[in-house]
Amino acid sequence: MNRSGNATKKILVAGAGGFIAGHLVKALQRQGHKIRAVDIKPLKEWYQPSADAENLALDLREKQNCYQAAEGCDEVFNLAADMGGMGFIETHKAACMLSVLINTHLLMAAKDRGAQRYFYASSACVYNGDKQMDPRNPGLRESDAYPALAEDGYGWEKLFSERMCRHFREDFGLVTRVARFHNVYGPFGTYDGGREKAPAAICRKVIEAGRSGKREIVIWGDGEQTRSFMYIDDCVKGTLDIMNSGIEEPINLGSSEMVSINRLVDIVENIAGVRLERKYDPDAPKGVRGRNSDNTLIRKYLNWEPSTPLREGMKKTYEWIEGEMNAR
Ligand code: NAD
Repeated sequence: MNRSGNATKKILVAGAGGFIAGHLVKALQRQGHKIRAVDIKPLKEWYQPSADAENLALDLREKQNCYQAAEGCDEVFNLAADMGGMGFIETHKAACMLSVLINTHLLMAAKDRGAQRYFYASSACVYNGDKQMDPRNPGLRESDAYPALAEDGYGWEKLFSERMCRHFREDFGLVTRVARFHNVYGPFGTYDGGREKAPAAICRKVIEAGRSGKREIVIWGDGEQTRSFMYIDDCVKGTLDIMNSGIEEPINLGSSEMVSINRLVDIVENIAGVRLERKYDPDAPKGVRGRNSDNTLIRKYLNWEPSTPLREGMKKTYEWIEGEMNAR
């Protein structure tokens, strides 16, 4: 039994060297579970290694590595993927699609090694592009993934992998749960190097502008494209609750507080106490025009939705990135 009075489980967390899964490992450990944490990166590059987890560096595209990783595990969380922000996924489509090997081999290993539950981290990038042309997006409903016109490369891999989870559940009886994450941000994420997403990139750019004295910031596109951003604590809570729920179909896990990128810059400037001149780069990768999460379904099932106010989450994120940049 663990501290919550539930049975202690042995849980595989794939992608544990990354941003979200690093936080997930900590949360599962707080619940008293035993964790096998796996990532392709060497341990010294993990964002938040946990000394008391069993940490393995394995390439999970390889079938035998997935079987090794899943051996003896009651549950599997698959958050491993070759991914990044728009700058990465628009230019690395084949690499993104190769993550299909990770989910396929992990599903096979989970089934054959007797895991009882399996979680797959999908994405809002599965949604039909035609439904994301207007910056005043009313919120994407789960049914808006079909007819399919996903984000090329990354989104198609996610959509295919979602369906693979569905068919392993229907045909083989493996309990699978799928959440469609909408932009997640927070401390211990990527903020430079080309894989970072807008919230972390903007924090970094504002800090750099303050330091260099250049007082300007480059924004991708015209800045009027809209998104919603979910704070990491909400993402971890939602992931655990969806895994433990009876929700069989893919479900949105995202904030419904939609903002334009210009508004996000306002928020970060306000936190930093600066005002920068904005330069717009029309040729930079921009992604869809408008995206938001419709949370009707998650409210119905869990009586909850991600609700950390953007400014509050961004303040914590900004302070963490600033601390990291100062420590360099
Ligand atoms: P991340 O890049 O920080 O973490 C992913 C981890 O997977 C990395 O540490 C990477 O090294 C690892 N990985 C990649 N290839 C691997 C392989 N072959 N074998 C083992 N490990 C491998 O990304 P994240 O933001 O933490 O995202 C976690 C999951 O959530 C991913 O599946 C991602 O597609 C999904 N997601 C994230 C967001 C977001 O906003 N961060 C949005 C939608 C979906």
